[in-house]
Amino acid sequence: MTALHLGFIGIGRMGAPMAGRLLDAGFALTVFDISEAAAAPLVARGATRAASVADVAAAAEVILMSLPTPDVVGRLADEIAAVDGKTRLVVDLSTTGPRGAIKLAETLRSRNIGALDSPVSGGVAGARKGTLALMVSGPRGSFDELTPVLGNLGKLFFVGEKPGMAQTMKVINNMVSVTALAISSEAMVLGAKVGIDANVMIDILNAGSGRNSATVDKIPNFVLPRTFDFGFAVGLSCKDIRLCLEEAEARGVPMVVGSAVREMLSITRSRFGEDADLTMLTRTIEEWAGAEVKG
Ligand code: NAD
Repeated sequence: MTALHLGFIGIGRMGAPMAGRLLDAGFALTVFDISEAAAAPLVARGATRAASVADVAAAAEVILMSLPTPDVVGRLADEIAAVDGKTRLVVDLSTTGPRGAIKLAETLRSRNIGALDSPVSGGVAGARKGTLALMVSGPRGSFDELTPVLGNLGKLFFVGEKPGMAQTMKVINNMVSVTALAISSEAMVLGAKVGIDANVMIDILNAGSGRNSATVDKIPNFVLPRTFDFGFAVGLSCKDIRLCLEEAEARGVPMVVGSAVREMLSITRSRFGEDADLTMLTRTIEEWAGAEVKG
C-alpha cells in the first residue's frame, strides 16, 4: 500500500503535520502550496515539491487537500479535472460545507475521479499526534481503500455514502465547540469580575457539569497563559459557523443560539482581524466587561 503515490495540497497549520505523518508512514508524497516556504520542511524530509496543482494531478493517484475555503477547493477541483493525469481519487480534509462537497464530487465525477469529503476535528495538536477525528462520506469502497492512508491521521468515522454528509457533521461539531467557547468565556469573565480565581474556576467546571472542550483545553492552555495560540484562525471559524447556519436554514432548523455565536465571532474578527486566534473571542468579552481571565 505504501507504493501508492499521494499528493497533498495546502501545507498550512493542519496540512503540514498531516502530510508529515503520511511521509513518516512511508508514502511517496508530492506537495503543493501557494506559499513556497510552507512546502520546504516536507521537501527536506523527502517529499517532492510540485510547481502547480496540475503537476500534483499528473503525478499522484490520490490527492488530499487541506485548504481554507470552499471557493479555493472548488477552483482547485476544476484545475485537477482539467488535467489528464494519474489522479483517480480526491480527499477533501478541509471544512468546506455540504454544498461544497456535493459540487466537488460532481466536478470530479465528470472526469471519472472519485471524491471523499473527510473533514477533521482535533486541532493542530491532534494533527501532529495523529489523533484527529476524521469524518468521511462518499463511496464506501473508496473509504475502505483509503483506510490505510487516512488511518495515519486519526480515528475514522464513516458517516454515509452521500457526498456532504461528513461536512454537515463537521460544521455541526464546530458549532457546538465554538458555542462552548463563547459561553465558557462569558462565564470565566464573570468569575474574574467577581474575583474568583481562574484556576479554581476551571477545576470546578471540569469536575462538574459545566465541563466542555473550552474548559478542558482552550481556556486553560491558551487563555489563562495569555498566549492565545490555539492554532485556529477566527476567520476560518466564522466560515464554519456560516456554513452550519446556511445548512440549518436550508433544512428549516432553527439555530437561535448559533446565530448569537456567529455575531460574537464576527465582532471578534472585526476587532482583532481575520488571522487572530479563535481564543481571542475571550478577549472580546474581557474588553466589554473590563476584567481579565488570568491563570
Ligand atoms: P491555514 O490557513 O493554516 O492553511 C491553509 C493552507 O492552504 C495555507 O498554507 C495556504 O497557503 C494554502 N493555500 C491557500 N490557497 C491555496 C491555493 N490556491 N493553492 C494551494 N495552497 C493554497 O489553515 P488551517 O488552519 O490549516 O485549516 C485548513 C482547513 O482545515 C480549513 O478548512 C479549516 O477550517 C480546517 N480545520 C482547521 C483546524 C485548525 O485547528 N486549524 C481544525 C480542523 C479543521
